This record gives sequence, C-alpha cells and structure tokens, in this order.
Amino acid sequence: MIHLKTEKEIDIIKQSSLIVGKTLAEVAKIIRPGMMCKVLDKVAEEFIRDNGAVPSFKGYNGFPATLCISVNDVIVHGIPGNYELQEGDIVSVDCGAKKNGFHADYAYTFYVGKVVEEIQNLCIRTKESLYKGIEQAKEGNRIGDISYAVQSYVESFGYSVVRELIGHGVGKYLHEKPDVPNYGQKGKGPKIKKGMVFCIEPMINLGLRYIRIDRDGWTMRTADGKHSAHFEHMVAIREKGTEILSTYEYIEEVLNKK
Ligand code: MG
Ligand code: MG
Repeated sequence: MIHLKTEKEIDIIKQSSLIVGKTLAEVAKIIRPGMMCKVLDKVAEEFIRDNGAVPSFKGYNGFPATLCISVNDVIVHGIPGNYELQEGDIVSVDCGAKKNGFHADYAYTFYVGKVVEEIQNLCIRTKESLYKGIEQAKEGNRIGDISYAVQSYVESFGYSVVRELIGHGVGKYLHEKPDVPNYGQKGKGPKIKKGMVFCIEPMINLGLRYIRIDRDGWTMRTADGKHSAHFEHMVAIREKGTEILSTYEYIEEVLNKK
C-alpha cells in the first residue's frame, strides 16, 4: 500500500531533507585525497544530531553507520571504514535523516581530486538521467515512465542499469511503496498520484549490470570491477505540482568554491 502524504507532512519531510542536504555539504567540504571514510561518517552523524535529527541508516537492518560511502566499483551500501580516499576516486555518499517522525534519504557522487574523463562522464550522465526521471514524475503518469526515461538515457551511452536495488517511497518509513525501478516500460507500474513522496536513485554501471555483495553482507560492487555512479533525489507530488524536496544547492556551493 502506498502512503499518501498531506501537504503538512510533505513540509515536514522537506525539513528533514534540508538537514540531509546540509550534511552532504559538510561532507563535501572535507572530501579530498587522504581522507578516511569513517571520518566523513563521524562528521555526518554529529551534524545530523546537532540539528535535532537522527541518522536514518544507522541500525537499519543492522547497518552500522550514518552514511553509505561507496567508492569506484562499489555501487551502494559501502560501509565507511579505514579506507583513505585516493586522487581519482569517485565516491557516492548516501545519507538519511529523520526528524519529527519523517525520513529524508538522498545521495550524491563526488570526485576526489582529478577524475579521468570517462568516469566523469559516467557521473554526469547518471545525474542527468536522474533529472530525466524527475521530468516524468508528475501526476497522471506512471512509475514506468520514470523507469523508462532513466534506462533509455543511460543505455544510449552503453552504460547499464543495476536491477537489484531501486528507488522507493519515503516518509514515516525509510523504504515505502511505490517501488521506483531505474529500468522498465512506459505506461507500466502504479499511477503517480498527489501525496506521493518517493526517491529516484539511478545506480549506473560503466560496464555490465551484474553485481556481487562482499562478505560484510552490505557492500554491493559491480561484478566486472568497473566503476558505478549513484545520484538520488526525493520528489513530492503536491497540490501545486511536482517538487524536488532534496537539494544539491548546499553541496554544489561548496564544490564550486573548491
Ligand atoms: Mg534511497
Ligand atoms: Mg539513499
């Protein structure tokens, strides 16, 4: 069942979302070669708690950290540890925060120093595919319209779409209905209705779509060892139309100054 939200509830989710955006901006400030992933995690957790929220991921199904930090061939769900970021890495940082009973959840893929053009293009086009999906996220369309928009865009560059994980509704629970796959057919899936709030989060591989999971039970990598990128936004279908509740504004303000 899909929990439709009131305008008031959407405003609350937007507040949680603002905390996530500012947390990711704090992370953006200190991402550089030599930075240890678990330090990023600590900074994020403190920032979230200082803002009266709680990290959504920590303890979720036993996940041990505030952030999912996924470097290079890690697609998503990387556990922040002792790894020190290297010049040329790309790093997906996924963050969730809950305040006043509602979760926010979104992600950005950062460059560490100078990244080779082929990998930059993967990141740029993954982000573009997210906005292609968002364009289709409007009342009366179907979820499959979003899925198709993402998939057809990235596959036109020869990239592949991860199937094992998908976007999702979000609200009182971190993961709600509807499912929002990054692959699929136009005109299929649930109808998009007023009051829906969901995450669109393309996970796009440079090589083949196949995955493997590390022995930690979390870290999801590409099976072929090639790079993967991940961007995530939250959209709400409101009275006035579709609104992106998440924001990259604070992140990009930091990155533009670097
Ligand atoms: Mg998500
Ligand atoms: Mg996420």
